Amino acid sequence: MTLVALVGIGKIAVDQHVPAIAASPDWTLAATVSRNGSVPGVSSFTGIEAMLEACPDIPVVSLALPPVPRFAYAQAALQAGRHVMLEKPPGATLAEIQVLQALAASKGLTLYATWHSRMAQAVAPAKAWLAGKTVARAHITWAEDVRKWHPGQDWVFEPGGMGVFDPGSNALSILTHILPAPVHLTAAELDFPANRQTPIAAQLTFSGNVTADFDWRQQGPQTWDIEIDTPKGSIALRMGGNLLEINGKPVAGENSILGEYPALYARMTDLVRTGTSDVDLSPMIHIADAMTLGRRNTVDPFDF
Ligand code: NAP
Repeated sequence: MTLVALVGIGKIAVDQHVPAIAASPDWTLAATVSRNGSVPGVSSFTGIEAMLEACPDIPVVSLALPPVPRFAYAQAALQAGRHVMLEKPPGATLAEIQVLQALAASKGLTLYATWHSRMAQAVAPAKAWLAGKTVARAHITWAEDVRKWHPGQDWVFEPGGMGVFDPGSNALSILTHILPAPVHLTAAELDFPANRQTPIAAQLTFSGNVTADFDWRQQGPQTWDIEIDTPKGSIALRMGGNLLEINGKPVAGENSILGEYPALYARMTDLVRTGTSDVDLSPMIHIADAMTLGRRNTVDPFDF
């Protein structure tokens, strides 16, 4: 049983981290750090330094904060000799994550940049099916309602919040994991609400005939699809990578994301046990490239 401190008791901590930790025989939630939030029955702190000092027996710190404030917390935890799990996207910039990687390596600690969508049920079978095949075309449609998934969270529209790339990073984390050969971004259109700092929609073009449409204004049913054609047939991942179709027929998975966070904590158990880290920045490189290369369109103002 490993003790973990959970930092940032907000939407994803309550929806996914706390239940996943509670259900795991390998983990015990021993402390929380949050300025306002707490978990009943668990020691709570409002600052990371106080928790690190008071709880030398907690070896793992899991950071469920938004990306911009996360770096300082991760750095403090690593400097105090703790293994660290990062929510996705792993940071506000690529360079700051490389700083954390170097710090973890220098101290012999595990740094795990989680991508929860990679744990979706159809992802491993899709990767296996695509292995050794040539991708002729791929298209991502990731359209969801920001008001449902990020109610009132203004940080998503502030610099570093990444806008629609926050959910889009889930799609890109699957794409970069399952494609048999890497692709790179060649063009992007980014739709910025007139009153906001980050895009609410994006259309991406990659090498290899790969395209993506991200939109955060979708009402009603949500769409999280990746469709891939090869000369040897077609594959589709639906419901955020949890359902798999091959040549139009459902073959695996179920419409549920409930297994993703337990799988992340199981992976962290393995990483700590084997003394290794897992930090793949490829989804975030595509986001940074889209911000670098993208053409900016101004669209209607957005308010929650
Ligand atoms: P959130 O609820 O807005 O934030 C989580 C908590 O972080 C907040 O309750 C707040 O707790 C703390 N926090 C916020 N801003 C802070 C700041 N500037 N400094 C220190 N602490 C701060 O966000 P979330 O939806 O849980 O998302 C957090 C991360 O999880 C993001 O990277 C997101 O991409 C990822 N994620 C979210 C979802 C989702 O459905 N929302 C799904 C998967 C992954 P205190 O005020 O108590 O300190």
